[in-house]
Amino acid sequence: MPTHGVTEGNQKRKVLIIGGGFAGLECALTLSNDDRFDVTLVDRTNHHLFQPLLYQVATASLTGPDIARSIRQVLAKAKNVTVLMDEITGIDTATRAASGKSGHRYEYDYLLLAAGARTGYFGNDHWADYTLGLKSLADAQAIRRKVLSNLERAELTTSESERTKLMTVAIVGGGPTGVELAGAFADLVHRSLKSNFRRIDTSKLRIILIEGFKNLLEPYDANQRDYARRHLESIGVEVRTETKVTDIRPGVLEFGDSTNLEAAAIIWAAGVAANPLTKALGVETDRGGRITPNPDLSVPGHPEIFVAGDLVAMKDNEGKVVPGVAPAASQMGRHIARVLKEELRLEKGRFADRKHDLRPTFRYWDKGMMAIIGKNHAVVKAGKALRLQGFIAWMAWLFIHILFLIGFRNKLAVLLGWATAYLKNTPEARIIMHPPKEYEAASL
Ligand SMILES: Cc1cc2nc3c(=O)[nH]c(=O)nc-3n(C[C@H](O)[C@H](O)[C@H](O)COP(=O)(O)OP(=O)(O)OC[C@H]3O[C@@H](n4cnc5c(N)ncnc54)[C@H](O)[C@@H]3O)c2cc1C
Repeated sequence: MPTHGVTEGNQKRKVLIIGGGFAGLECALTLSNDDRFDVTLVDRTNHHLFQPLLYQVATASLTGPDIARSIRQVLAKAKNVTVLMDEITGIDTATRAASGKSGHRYEYDYLLLAAGARTGYFGNDHWADYTLGLKSLADAQAIRRKVLSNLERAELTTSESERTKLMTVAIVGGGPTGVELAGAFADLVHRSLKSNFRRIDTSKLRIILIEGFKNLLEPYDANQRDYARRHLESIGVEVRTETKVTDIRPGVLEFGDSTNLEAAAIIWAAGVAANPLTKALGVETDRGGRITPNPDLSVPGHPEIFVAGDLVAMKDNEGKVVPGVAPAASQMGRHIARVLKEELRLEKGRFADRKHDLRPTFRYWDKGMMAIIGKNHAVVKAGKALRLQGFIAWMAWLFIHILFLIGFRNKLAVLLGWATAYLKNTPEARIIMHPPKEYEAASL
């Protein structure tokens, strides 16, 4: 008896892709115009987001549209791909169908779950109410709104203590996101906003970067970590390492040594967790909700379901953990499309009954890591030997990183558009469109 929704024989195979991020989009692009497949890509937003540049939207260097592209537009020429905007809320692996918030049901022969990660709070989910995460455009705009509104309030208030609190930004998490945010905020207040205020000196904005472990940018070499710290401190960022956050209340951080810090903006850049849809597959997940797939990226016990990108916890062929980065997600999306194409080819030959055993193993090509530490400064670590820091690393980031990461067809146009906006320091990015609610309040 065929399972509900399964296509047989020569009919087109229904491929359902959940998520138009790096993994989902790359899979759809690789399957595009292969008329053996009828592909449906469902995303809860209408855009593919270039997350590596989110911090620049949060720190008012770029606007949201600078770092996002309509998924529909990217796939306009892929005639066998239908793009739908809906939030998937459930997956029924027995009937091979997913359900959306809209009430629609999506049947599949093959499913790719590529719904990415969300901000994780290590079991303290209530901290989400008092902090700002950075995973979506809405998050980035909320951070920018908060910090810019706080500066406006600081200019307005006559209370010194209120001004001190308003002019404190705490960033929890000394990984690339925290470091990039801290550096870019320092640039914003020292350069871009320097002459814009009369009563406050924006360069006095306290930017405090808090890390529980000994070092910032843990996966980098010791001299690169030291360089990052020294540079951040030289542009006015207060770096506090080995400082564990034990509790967060509205506007207050509590630390393990019983001290606390008042900050009107608290940004949480300390953890991520997999999208909760992984639980719907009924297979084992790790503490972060991620799935360890088979070497071909299919889910154990389900050759028709694949996971990719930030939902995956796996080691590469050399035994190293595959990191949650955009190139890994794109490579996985491309690999899964190839597995599907190869499978249909095998079905027609004498190895049809071994088609699952013959699937190729995913191999990760590590392109290295880069982190920006304020304008004109960065660190790059690639392979065993390539280590760059300073301006040359920043140039490498600007041109190579974006060019390789983005899966769009018009790479050069996108690169030039972003680079121009970034270098010009887009002033419209500083417009506060919807002030936060508390801006109306009399006091903090
Ligand atoms: C601030 C930040 C900075 C980063 N910097 C870098 C960097 O410099 N270099 C680098 O390589 N990587 C970086 N990363 C990591 C990189 O962005 C991720 O590894 C990559 O985006 C993962 O791709 P993905 O396809 O798994 O998920 P995503 O790109 O997150 O895409 C997931 C998609 O699924 C959609 N979705 C989610 N839930 C649902 C649902 N229920 N229904 C329908 N659609 C859904 C989302 O809208 C989204 O479009 C950064 C990440 C962040 C947050």
